[in-house]
Parts: sequence; C-alpha cells; structure tokens
Amino acid sequence: MIEKLRQLPSVDRLLGEEGMQKLIAGYGRERAVEALRAELDLIRDEVRAGGEVPESDRIVARTGSRLHKRLSPSLRPVINATGVIIHTNLGRAPLSAAARAAMEAVAAGYSTLEYDLEAGKRGHRTMHAERLLCELTGAESALVVNNNAGAVLLALTGLAQGRSVLISRGQLVEIGGGFRIPDVMAQSGARLVEVGTTNRTHLRDYEQALAKHNDVALILHAHHSNFRIIGFTTEPALSELVGLGNERGVPVMDDLGSGALLDTAQFGLAHEPMVQESVAAGAAVTCFSGDKLLGGPQAGIIVGRAACVEPLKHHPLTRALRADKLCLAALQATLLHYLKGEAMEQIPVWQMIALPLEQIEQRARRWRRYLKQAGLAVEIVDGLSTIGGGSLPGETLPTRLVALNVPHPVELAARLRAADPPVITRIEDDRLVLDPRTVLADEEQPMLKAVVEGAGL
Ligand SMILES: *Cc1c(COP(=O)(O)O)cnc(C)c1O
Repeated sequence: MIEKLRQLPSVDRLLGEEGMQKLIAGYGRERAVEALRAELDLIRDEVRAGGEVPESDRIVARTGSRLHKRLSPSLRPVINATGVIIHTNLGRAPLSAAARAAMEAVAAGYSTLEYDLEAGKRGHRTMHAERLLCELTGAESALVVNNNAGAVLLALTGLAQGRSVLISRGQLVEIGGGFRIPDVMAQSGARLVEVGTTNRTHLRDYEQALAKHNDVALILHAHHSNFRIIGFTTEPALSELVGLGNERGVPVMDDLGSGALLDTAQFGLAHEPMVQESVAAGAAVTCFSGDKLLGGPQAGIIVGRAACVEPLKHHPLTRALRADKLCLAALQATLLHYLKGEAMEQIPVWQMIALPLEQIEQRARRWRRYLKQAGLAVEIVDGLSTIGGGSLPGETLPTRLVALNVPHPVELAARLRAADPPVITRIEDDRLVLDPRTVLADEEQPMLKAVVEGAGL
C-alpha cells in the first residue's frame, strides 16, 4: 500500500498538466491548488482502503468537478415531471412571463418601490399590490408580508395579543415546514381556546366558549389545507361564525391557506374556498399565500375590514415581515393577470390545472415517439396529477403518464436528478413515470435528452 501511495503523482507534477493549467486559468491558482490537495487527500484515503491510484488526467478531472461543484449555485432550476403542480419542495408556483419580467426590470435598477412619482416624494411600498387586492377581493384594505405564516402571526399578534382566540379542535392544523396553529398562537401571545371536538364542532360550542371567556379577541377559522376529515363530521360555515361574531362584537379571522381567486370546481375539482367568498361572508381578516393557488411569488396576504387591517400596517412586526421589491413586482404582475381576466392563460399554476387531457395526450405521444426512437420501452398510461401545496387534499386531475419500462427505475431516477438541469420524476408500479402536466414547454427537449442519456442510450 505504501508502494501504491508512492505512485501518486506530486502536486508539482500535476500542476504541470495542461488540464490543471486550465483550471488555474478558470478558477485562480489558490483555489485550484487547494482543490487539488483536497482531492489528493481523498485519493490517499481511497488507496489506503484498497483502491487503485488513478491516472493523472483522472485526478485533474476530479479536481475540476470538485471546483465546479463548489462554485456552482445549489439553488437552481429543475424540471418537475412529478405532476404535483404546487410542489413545495420544488419552489411551489412557477411565475408567469409578466411576473418574471417585472422582477427582472425592478431588480436591474432603481424603482418606485417607495417613491411617489406625481408628488416627487416618499411613497409607500404597500400601495403597489394592495389597491389591486382590494379591487379583486372586494376587501376594504389589504397588506402584503413575506409569507402566510407571517401574515397569520402578524394578525394574531396585532389583533389578539394577551387575549383569547377561539378555534375548532378540528382546525388545529400543522402545515408543512413546522407551521402549527397552536405554536403560532403561543408565539403571538394570544390564548388558545379550543372549541368542540376533532370531528364535530357546533355553533353552540362557540357560543358556550364566548359565555365562558370574556376576553375573546377573535374567532379563528383555519382551512384544513393538507388533510380531510371524512365521515361523522360537522363544522359551522364561516358565515355562521361571522353571524355569531357580529352578535357578540367579536371579529372572525379566516386563514385560507391557499386562497384561490378562481373557482377550482370548473376543472372537476372540489371547490377550494375563495378569497372573495371569505370577504363576502364577512371575515374581518382573511389570510392566504402568494405562491399557492394564487400562482405568484412567496408572500402572505391579509385582506379585510379597514378597522382591522389598517392598524396592522403600523405594527412593529410588519416591518420585520415586509415583502421585498422583487416579490412586490411579481405579485403586482400576477394580480394584474386576474384583473385583466387572463389568469387562466397566463399563470402557470392555472394553465397546468386547466390543461385539457387531449393536450396532455398529444404531448405524451410526442415524448413516446422520441423515446421509442432512441430505443426505450415506453408506454402511455392513465394517471393522476395532484394540486399539492396543501390545497385540495385528496383531489386529483386525470392525466396521461409516459411510463418507462427500464430494469432499474430507482437508479434511472437518481441519474435524472444528476442531469443538468435535474429532472424530478415519480416511480409508480416499479416504473418511472413522467407527467406532461407540470413540464413547461421549453423544458421538454432538455428533459427528453436527459432521459435518453440517463438510460444509457
Ligand atoms: C400554507 C398555509 C399556511 C402557511 O403559508 P406560507 O405561505 O407557506 O407561509 C398557513 N395556513 C394555512 C391554512 C396554510 O395552508
């Protein structure tokens, strides 16, 4: 083994290699030498463990990959062939062309973020999206923060700190990423008062709780988001809670989670509660995400009655949770799609939901043809796409999947994740499947190439 280690070329000799000189030119001498030494350390360990001494050009190539990996961003685009539309791990909603252009334009230079052009003096960052939100939802007032978890925390803190908040036991939910209603409640300084039981809560349970607690600041209604209670269940409708709240002078807060502005029922899905409905039902504040069914950037949106929302604008937490200019630019562009009545055509999340099965079939056939020609065993099979992002749990859209019959689907999936750009797939019935619904048009070619290469053809 000592003998073998002696065969390892020296740093000086390797630095003389043409490949190493190229790496020095590309990455700088210091970084390149450091990477070479680190790679040689690794190789020594491998040799001690019984490995062979690699050739010089192999060592240089490994040093090159090490440098490339270290200096490439880890946050990068992937192709989502899973059929999960609002895929939380893959960045939720892809943005419309207009939203991306708006971000780019604002990012490249200065902007009217907090500048009033007419008056020639300081303006407010709050005005850009908020006017549109009021127009779209019918609310008196609106406020945008970083994400919906922040919106809920802010609303609870601003409206109920030190006082009680009623919520049905069946709505004490945990969303992904550690967001739990009871914990957020504790953080806000509001006192949680659980009402009813897990599966059944009646209006009279709220009435009794109101009779028992004289410091109730809010009735909180939270969307179940990522689960469904089925069977022997009941929960008062939002409008009933508002009716009771009005009688007793207690405002109702509605955490919608996804917060759709379009009706999901028109696509054969269950009806996801809409923001306009929440406002019309009389919720004092309604909170929802920017990057779920709205199809925009990560943001938390609060709409509602001016008496509740306006004071929140001056809360210290609002400053800590404020949305940045890129988010506001993308959000405004996204909201404009709704205002112009073009959301279904322009916003990727809605395009994907609305995609007719015949078009999915056409794309699947095109993929099958390409992959067959490359020598792969491919079939088109029925499948299901899901909405994801905690919206419409258990609800699916029929789709047509391209299924690959390969001996080792798990390994192929791993090779596809290692492709550039990486392709994320699903394995179903021991087959690797690709769902055309979530693959954007310009991703088709790179995805198909990656599949052919990954299959070793
Ligand atoms: C998703 C969700 C949240 C959190 O929203 P983020 O935008 O992810 O911070 C809060 N409440 C409900 C009901 C949700 O579904």
